[in-house]
Amino acid sequence: MAMDTHQKLKVLADAAKYDASCASSGAKRSNKGKGLGNATGSGICHSYTPDGRCVSLLKILLTNRCIYDCRYCVNRVSNDVQRAAFTVEEVVRLTIEFYRRNYIEGLFLSSGVVGDSDRTMDLLAEVARRLREDEEFHGYIHLKGVVGASDEALAKAGRHADRISANVELPVQEDLNKLAPEKSIEEAEGAMGFLKSGIDRSKERGRRARPPRFAPAGQSTQMIVGATASTDSTILGTANRLYDTYRLRRVYYTAYSPIPNAHQDLPAETPELVREHRLYQADWLLRFYEFGIEEVVTRDDGNLDLEVDPKMAWALANRAFFPVDLNSAPREALLRVPGLGTRSVAKILKARTRRRLREADLRELRAPVKRIMPFIVAADSWSAAAKRLDAPGLRAEVKPPSQQLMLFEASTSAATGQV
Ligand code: SF4
Repeated sequence: MAMDTHQKLKVLADAAKYDASCASSGAKRSNKGKGLGNATGSGICHSYTPDGRCVSLLKILLTNRCIYDCRYCVNRVSNDVQRAAFTVEEVVRLTIEFYRRNYIEGLFLSSGVVGDSDRTMDLLAEVARRLREDEEFHGYIHLKGVVGASDEALAKAGRHADRISANVELPVQEDLNKLAPEKSIEEAEGAMGFLKSGIDRSKERGRRARPPRFAPAGQSTQMIVGATASTDSTILGTANRLYDTYRLRRVYYTAYSPIPNAHQDLPAETPELVREHRLYQADWLLRFYEFGIEEVVTRDDGNLDLEVDPKMAWALANRAFFPVDLNSAPREALLRVPGLGTRSVAKILKARTRRRLREADLRELRAPVKRIMPFIVAADSWSAAAKRLDAPGLRAEVKPPSQQLMLFEASTSAATGQV
C-alpha cells in the first residue's frame, strides 16, 4: 500500500536522526521584505539533543533507499527496513507548511543514494531551487553534498543551499575499507575541494554579486566515532587536516549508535557519549586556543581523558606551567587556564589595566572560580594556589560529578565545544 506524506515523514525523519551535521550558525542570507523566512544573524539552530539531532530544522531524508552498503548505516541496501521516498514536491510543501506553522526555521535535507550520486544530488538541489525560486523561501537550507556527484551537480546545490556537508564518515581509509569499501576519503575530499573553490570564488565576488553567493554558511563534515578502533588522536588529526585544507566551518563527531541488524564487525554498544563531547572540546582548543593534538590527547593510548575536559587534562599533566599570574601573564598563558575562555581572558586583560585583580574579581567576571583557583595567583592568593597545585587530590577536586558529565556535558557538546 502506498504511503501518504505523513507516513513517509515518520520513516524519513527517523532515518535522518543518525546525521548530526546540521548546525546553522553562520548563515547570512537575509530577507529584504519579500517571501518567507530569514536566516540572518544569530543563527537559527543551536539546539541539540543528546543523540545529535538539531531540533529547529526539518531534518529529513529525501529517501532512505540506497545503493550502497555501508555497514554502520541503518539505510544500507542489505538492511531489512521499511523504505520510503519523498517527491521533490512533497519536501517543498512540508517545508513551507512547517515553516508557516512556526515548527521550523529551515531544512536539513540528506538522502540515500538512488540511481547514482549525480541524480541524488540533482534531486536535493532541485528541492532547494524550488524553495528559493518558486516559494521565495529565505530560511536556512542545509543540503547533504553527495560524495561522488559531479562538479555540475554540486554547483547546483551550492547556488541555493546555505550550507553543504560532504561527509567523510570515518577518519582513515582503512576504516572505510573495513566498513564501507565502496567509499573513499579521496572522493569525499574531491567534493570538499570543489565546494571550497565555489565558496572562495563567491566570497571574492562579494555579497551583492550575481549569481548569488555559493553556500554562504560554508561547508561541514561528519565523522562517526567508536565504530572502529581509530583513536581520538587519529580522529582529531583528520579533522585538523580537513579544517586546514578545505576551511570547513565545523567537523561533527557522532558517537556510533548501534543500529538494528548491525554487522558483526561493529561494536554492540554505543561509545560513552562523553567521548563525543570531549572531541568537541578538543576540536575547540585546536582551532581557537592554539593547542596541539599531542597536548590535548594526554593518555598513552591516543584517546582523550574522559574524566576531565582536555584543557584540564593538559593542566593536570603540566602543573609546572602553573600558577599563572592573573595580573601579569600574557594572553596565551591565561588561555591555558582551565575555566578561562576567550571572553573571560579579554575581560581580565581589560580589568587589570585599571587595578590589581583579586580572587573576588573573578567572581564578578562570573568565571568558575573553583576550577580556576588552583591554577592562578591573584593579588591576594599566592600561597593558596601553590599549595593546591601540589595536592595529590587535585584531580579528584576538579573532576565534575559523573551525573553532570553525562547529562550536562553530553547534551551541550556540538553546540558549544566549551572549555
Ligand atoms: S551511502 Fe549514505 S545512506 Fe547509503 S548506506 Fe552509505 S551512509 Fe547509508
